[in-house]
Amino acid sequence: MVIIVRILVFVVMVVCLANEIKAQSIDDRTCWEYFKLTDRLREGDSLSKESWNKFLKDEAIEVYMNDQGVDSTFFNTYRKTMEIVYMPKNESILNNRLKDPNKYWWTYIINEYKVHEEEMKAYLRTMKQNPKGYFDICYEHAYTMLPKEAHKRVDHYKFSIIPLHTDAHIENGWIVCTLMCAYFNDKNKTGILMGHELHHSLRPRYRFTADKEDEAIIEVLQRMLNEGSADLVDKRYQGEDAHALLEFQRGYPENFLEEGPAVLANIDSLLGSETIDKSSLTLRKLLNTWNTSGHIPGYYIMDVIERNGYKEELIDNISNPFYYIYLYNRAAKSDTKAAYVLSDAVIQYIQSLDKKYREKGKIYYVNR
Ligand SMILES: [Zn+2]
Repeated sequence: MVIIVRILVFVVMVVCLANEIKAQSIDDRTCWEYFKLTDRLREGDSLSKESWNKFLKDEAIEVYMNDQGVDSTFFNTYRKTMEIVYMPKNESILNNRLKDPNKYWWTYIINEYKVHEEEMKAYLRTMKQNPKGYFDICYEHAYTMLPKEAHKRVDHYKFSIIPLHTDAHIENGWIVCTLMCAYFNDKNKTGILMGHELHHSLRPRYRFTADKEDEAIIEVLQRMLNEGSADLVDKRYQGEDAHALLEFQRGYPENFLEEGPAVLANIDSLLGSETIDKSSLTLRKLLNTWNTSGHIPGYYIMDVIERNGYKEELIDNISNPFYYIYLYNRAAKSDTKAAYVLSDAVIQYIQSLDKKYREKGKIYYVNR
């Protein structure tokens, strides 16, 4: 009996340990390496190319920076800018540069890292004390825009925080978030930024191979759905009134909503036209705006759907790259703020694509 109990206890311990290992963890090693560099700079040491390159030799940094498309010139300038920001002897140059953040953008950004360094350290320590608690909050935000079946976790995803640059990036099961982005967004509303990213990972998708002639159009429909639906997780918290964010981090929702109708009207005129050869359309012709990842007009579309009471129906059909267009038009027709109503011609065109591809794909979950 005693042996059986011992074996049971052992089994329970092993299972717990396995879960512990499997649970999502946060890799913030580069941040602490960065703070060592900044300590030395504050003491007056310069930042040698060797130390800098050694610091940059990190896979998470490489994954993120490759996506940003930066080269060695950028990194070299960044290193020199760090010397301006952190070395006491450069204080007057720094103060001059800070008068014109647009001209000296990276000086401004690195200075924000410097000014908030102690709070950032405290933030990382708190997060590391209870990563599961942190991720629970992030998942709850993502779930607000997902059907029950998709309320899963992607514990196998890697999550890294890097102390450079300003954005976040997700690729091949790896979420890389800059410390600036994570810290200020969590200060503003804990977990919404990660909630948005996790929504991308968990959203069931209807995937199929489009014929060459439809490729660009299908891609645009998928992008608007992808970013627009995820934007309902976080964008309402990131408006001009979100003062916990830095100035450049806020105001995107207003911009997306403002630009949405014109871009939607452009898509309407192109897809609804009988004279335009649809196979000649490109992503850039369809999304004729500064951001082509789908936020514009995706967030506008989803906002109109939500404010007219169709959010649940959207969630029920969150994988479908056609359905939300019908839902949008239904919402737009009864919208009290006179949302842009799509033409019958474009709806018929979407219906023809819908019919063509309905049987050609399948729904799949990213988190298989
Ligand atoms: Zn996104």
